[in-house]
Amino acid sequence: MPNAATDALTRTPFDVPFGTSPGIAALGERFFTRLAPTPLPSPYVVSVAPAAAALLGWTEAGLRDAAKDPAFIDTFIGNAVPDWADPLATVYSGHQFGVWAGQLGDGRAIRLAEARMPDGPWEIQLKGAGLTPYSRMADGRAVLRSSIREYLCSEAMYSLGVPTTRAMSIIGSDAPVRRESIETSAVVTRLAPSFIRFGHFEHFAAREDHASLRALADFVIDNFYPACRDAANPYQALLREVSLLTADLVAHWQAIGFCHGVMNTDNMSILGLTIDYGPFGFLDAFDGNHICNHSDQQGRYAYSQQPQIAFWNLHCLAQALLPLWRDAEATDPEAEKEAAVAAAREALDPFRDRYAAAFFRHYRAKLGLRSEHDQDEALMTNLFRVLHANRVDYTIFWRSLGRISSHDASQDAPVRDLFLDRAAWDAWAAEYRARLQAEQSDDAARAAAMLAVNPKYVLRNHLAETAIRAAREKDFSEVDRLLAVLSKPFDEQPEAEHYAALPPDWASGLEVSCSS
Ligand code: AMP
Ligand code: MG
Repeated sequence: MPNAATDALTRTPFDVPFGTSPGIAALGERFFTRLAPTPLPSPYVVSVAPAAAALLGWTEAGLRDAAKDPAFIDTFIGNAVPDWADPLATVYSGHQFGVWAGQLGDGRAIRLAEARMPDGPWEIQLKGAGLTPYSRMADGRAVLRSSIREYLCSEAMYSLGVPTTRAMSIIGSDAPVRRESIETSAVVTRLAPSFIRFGHFEHFAAREDHASLRALADFVIDNFYPACRDAANPYQALLREVSLLTADLVAHWQAIGFCHGVMNTDNMSILGLTIDYGPFGFLDAFDGNHICNHSDQQGRYAYSQQPQIAFWNLHCLAQALLPLWRDAEATDPEAEKEAAVAAAREALDPFRDRYAAAFFRHYRAKLGLRSEHDQDEALMTNLFRVLHANRVDYTIFWRSLGRISSHDASQDAPVRDLFLDRAAWDAWAAEYRARLQAEQSDDAARAAAMLAVNPKYVLRNHLAETAIRAAREKDFSEVDRLLAVLSKPFDEQPEAEHYAALPPDWASGLEVSCSS
């Protein structure tokens, strides 16, 4: 698909086993700017992810072979544009830290193409591929550090069963990039059915470009929410569906102890995917108010705030979609406005119940409970209180809990010893045991069920940091090892036991911020 924007670049013979579709390009140029990635010198493969590449039809052997081909490297760092590509950067706006930020957009991400796969479209996007019209004051690049974090976490989240964008490769270049210090560059190839964010809708709403707003909503409905088409008000139905998926997503984050870190509306996927991995973190010691992003001084995006913030962001989306069901010709404009707002509220309303349902489903499963009981909420609240007071390691706690006996407290040591206040554990454990006995829990079956939902391996900051430090010395083996371990988060992996251990002392000094 040659075009003027890319003719300047070498075209590569590198081919892929899929056809493409225009995707968002079909919407017209108010939505994006066509442009080629900016080349980087002397690129090298840092890592490739077979599970993600399979989405584009590659076998693992095919991928490993392709990754030796300079044409592959050139394609996925953006040094050559293959014939199947139609590279473009999209425009969006958004609320950042609760404040309207105006126009943002793909400042360093370039969509290469939309692959048309049997299971639907997969957009192929290069993150860190150079300046775009939406880069504002920044450089269009991503550093190796943040690229490794995004790559590993995307794939880890997928294996945890959490909806997410995917990552297929990291290609590095020693081209320097200035952050707090000088770092090197990398490009992550991300995949998602769509990278459309709440912010895309906010953009056209803010400009009062209602034709584009409608075209965008129609595009999303037709491609991803076709059932909404049958609703009396398809746009209201879309808002409702996005609310439900977002509720499910955030409940899942809470359950696995994931903190996103920058839940700005431009980082909220219209498909309910986890998107834009920056200063994210998994809980180590449980702190309900944990703030993973060092740049987030107010704790707006603290762990405990995520559900509220998701709901706040959905209100921004609602505000943006509202013009699609306003009636300019209404005889009573006041009443019309009230009715339109009421329709938005009605679409957002199910969020709370859906979130609560998903939350209880996750935590009942984590606790190994088969039945529902009125007192489960109190059981959970009491648990969070003692976990918080004792700063118990979240992942290790859940993993160990599956192994306690429902009738014999004398074998509690592996869990009990995680608590400084042993009496607090004893009190809660008595409550929990009574609950298990009440439903005649079978210890072996419960243990198996709990081990299938409480992961042993998550991407703790210090694990990513170890891989990053080695990668800076050109040893990429730790990235690959982590990718492999995190692809089976629920399995016992005896050779990887240390990846499941408490963070080392040096980890407490690690800070992650918006700098990426
Ligand atoms: P983020 O906080 O990473 O979600 O980014 C917010 C906005 O800043 C988005 O529009 C990004 O594309 C843009 N952005 C972030 N980092 C860079 C960069 N290094 N170069 C260009 N744009 C960037
Ligand atoms: Mg972003």
